[in-house]
Amino acid sequence: MPMEPFNRTQLRLASWYALVMGAILGLCGLVSYQVTIRAYSDSMERELETVAKTLYAGIELHLKQPGRLEPFVEKLLPDVCLTDAPCLVEINPNHSHSFWKNHHIPSKVHQNDYYIRFLDSSNKLVAVSGLRVDLPTTMSSPNWQTVVDSQGKRFHQIAFPLHTLDNKLWGYLQVGRSLKDLDSRLAALKLVLLVGLPITVILIGVSSWWLAGKAVRPIYRSYLQMQQFTADVAHELRTPLTAILATLDSALRLSNVTEPEVRDTLKTIERQVNRFFELIKDLLLLSRLEQHTLDSNPQSLCLNDLMSDLIEEFSALAASVNLKLVSELRSPEPLYIFADEDQICRLFSNLIINAIQYTAPGGCITLKLSKEDRHAVFEVQDTGIGISLDAQTYIFDRFYRVQSDRSRQTGGTGLGLSIARAIAEGHGGSIRVQSEVGKGSTFTIRLPVEKTLQNKNY
Ligand code: ADP
Repeated sequence: MPMEPFNRTQLRLASWYALVMGAILGLCGLVSYQVTIRAYSDSMERELETVAKTLYAGIELHLKQPGRLEPFVEKLLPDVCLTDAPCLVEINPNHSHSFWKNHHIPSKVHQNDYYIRFLDSSNKLVAVSGLRVDLPTTMSSPNWQTVVDSQGKRFHQIAFPLHTLDNKLWGYLQVGRSLKDLDSRLAALKLVLLVGLPITVILIGVSSWWLAGKAVRPIYRSYLQMQQFTADVAHELRTPLTAILATLDSALRLSNVTEPEVRDTLKTIERQVNRFFELIKDLLLLSRLEQHTLDSNPQSLCLNDLMSDLIEEFSALAASVNLKLVSELRSPEPLYIFADEDQICRLFSNLIINAIQYTAPGGCITLKLSKEDRHAVFEVQDTGIGISLDAQTYIFDRFYRVQSDRSRQTGGTGLGLSIARAIAEGHGGSIRVQSEVGKGSTFTIRLPVEKTLQNKNY
């Protein structure tokens, strides 16, 4: 059977999975990228706003003339430089002046990244403190701005209008900082996403290929089984039909047929048609058992009574082929199971009929009933032909026969043990075989004892 359609399905599953996972991961990456920007921007804006508001509150009270910086500001910000006078102040990165210290703002932050600028009312730069930046001096509304210097470096700033004591517009206070930190973090995150995402998608693709293979394999196996089953059924149905056709053909060739000969032929055909129906009935039963669609009527069932009935029912058949059929009760009390009586009867009968069929005249068949843990154990032991170890692996498979010719002679469909196993397992039990060629076989069925009776500690 070509594996190709299954390989294609496996590939399609793996590709779809990788695609969907890639899309989800990509979306997550994008969201975390945006969240990182937002979180960083929020904390930076809070910091800038605090610095700007503190400066604004400290400075505005001392402003007297629009556009003119009072000496107080130089005291507050010792590194401030007026734009229309030569700047003699050296910026010492290790020195933090009193304003920052008094307002508990870490010097590391402001000295390397912050700048404070004073603009007059016509947007002309009056003075600058902190980081020396080469930025346009345009004011915009709202007062948050992200600006780029001549070298392409980004800065984020906040601006406040300043007023003199007599409430005239003095100019503007701008407090800003470099976005170098944020930009380098985002570049790193982008790199991780751009390189990491494709690698992750490839890994997902490979692992989902492997997982899809695992998922497809059982489907492939059951597909093979179905194909095998169809072939087996076709083969098994052909056998009785061929026999019927052959009988009809030879009957039609006869000339001057007498009435007893016609009757003989019709009886042969009737036997073959019955066998055909038996096979179809067994097949239907097995498929319903396996699909759990068989109508069942579970009830409390006494196995001791059932065993006596079976002995009564099969004694005559066993005696007719010179076999002894005996029972051995190993449980002191009656054993009850909760089960469908017809199905359990069918299960035990199949085993007894097999034992009768595969045991030579003079042999003995023993039915045993005992209790082990919470299970009723029913055994059918015979002194028949036995089953080789190899064959024991297959005898519960549909249509498997150790000696097909002999089995066909006995009228077996090759489904008896498959049906027995389906019934036992359908009742939460199990069936197993122990056998030795030439010495005999023992089929053991374990079925759970009825729950209410388990509680009574039988
Ligand atoms: P069948 O209808 O041919 O008996 P089963 O499924 O009942 O089919 O059994 C499968 C095969 O197992 C039989 O064909 C037979 O070869 C072997 N078998 C079953 N029961 C016994 C037994 N008690 N002793 C020896 N062989 C057995």
